[in-house]
Amino acid sequence: MSLIVTKFGGTSLCDLERVQAAARKVVDCRHEGHEVIVVVSAMAGETDKLEDLGYSISTRPNPREMDVLLASGEQVSIALIAMAIQDLGVPAMSYLGNQVPVYTNECHQRARITEVGCKELRRSIEQGAIPVVAGFQGIAPTGEITTIGRGGSDTTAVAIAVAMEASECRIYTDVDGVYTADPRIVEQARRMDSVTFEEMLELAALGAKVLHLRSVEYARRYSIPLKVFSSFIDGPGTLIVEEGESMEQPEVSAITFDKNEAKVTITHVPDIPGIAYQLLGPVGDANISVDMIVQNVSRNQRTDLTFTVPRSNFEQSLEILRDQVIRLRSEAEDPTLYDMEVVGDDAIAKVTAVGLGIRSHAGIATKMFETLAQYGINIQMISTSEIKISVVIHEDFCELAVRMLHSAFDLGTD
Ligand code: ADP
Ligand code: ASP
Ligand code: MG
Repeated sequence: MSLIVTKFGGTSLCDLERVQAAARKVVDCRHEGHEVIVVVSAMAGETDKLEDLGYSISTRPNPREMDVLLASGEQVSIALIAMAIQDLGVPAMSYLGNQVPVYTNECHQRARITEVGCKELRRSIEQGAIPVVAGFQGIAPTGEITTIGRGGSDTTAVAIAVAMEASECRIYTDVDGVYTADPRIVEQARRMDSVTFEEMLELAALGAKVLHLRSVEYARRYSIPLKVFSSFIDGPGTLIVEEGESMEQPEVSAITFDKNEAKVTITHVPDIPGIAYQLLGPVGDANISVDMIVQNVSRNQRTDLTFTVPRSNFEQSLEILRDQVIRLRSEAEDPTLYDMEVVGDDAIAKVTAVGLGIRSHAGIATKMFETLAQYGINIQMISTSEIKISVVIHEDFCELAVRMLHSAFDLGTD
């Protein structure tokens, strides 16, 4: 009998009817002759509500307590799914992260899974029950409850699939696969039968929520077949594949966007060794990840340094940098050398074209810039890698840019 790990996201558990529908899917899979483990997220919107509650009681909520709070969302859904499965005549047993256990490091709110215990899950399966595991949460070596980052249940599912040597991991969500763009934004977006791990990693890293980035990394590293299906309708879904297996090799495979970043600029930066480290070091020390760094030296040996940070760290980044500029100025023999200013803009969006074809087709960047120019969209920053081109634009133009690029690269259904 093959073992299949099935994961249901919050969008698939928006009300009790959907919970029952998910339970039916699980039971159908079992009746088809598979062993099944279920991983679930909190019901739709619940984690957001819990997060808001945390921020309502405290301006800088304690990360340990936030984990205790956020993990409670999944506790509700595992119990409900387990009961719904039992009502369909199949034994089921719910498990919190610490009961499995899903071990993580101690980094609250963005912990990484280090190991998954298999004994309990095996025992449950041997007894004929379907284990229903809370995604997104784990336990640190200290015994603390941790969470692994928003959207992390996908990663819990793949980690369990790896540990239990499952034959595949199925992610059930509210869309019937991975599309050429977010189907909520682009009506003409097309479901892809398959997408390569490499492209999916870029898409997940650059805003496509459909799969959590680390779930893709894990599945690739351990060669677990990873598939995305709709929990609402039956269909072929999307399979994440290695490059050689991919049928589709257009110049661009998909367009994605991210509105969760902010831009920080330090103007009039002196062109001296070590300055980037002096400025960005304290930002990194505060555990803020810096992305898309752009610097260009001007004629008078001064430069502007611009980079992006997660929007949730925007104010903190400005504060850190302004303090650092004051410190550098106060310690310098010539304070005018550090005559810099820190400015920021959080009304930005990063729009990205992803595709293996970018490696081999010339002129893709030009086509992208031309398309944005046609619609009067100003590009504030550009960054490229082997298989992606990202631009930062004003957030008001994000949806327009995504639709126009989707159409310029002929990704749609018509
Ligand atoms: P779940 O609650 O099941 O984890 P998510 O909201 O995390 O679901 O992910 C599914 C959503 O991802 C879809 O509703 C869709 O709007 C969004 N999405 C963004 N980009 C894409 C894409 N390229 N293909 C499919 N869905 C996408
Ligand atoms: N419930 C968590 C969240 O909303 C985890 C997940 O959905 O995967 O982020
Ligand atoms: Mg998700």
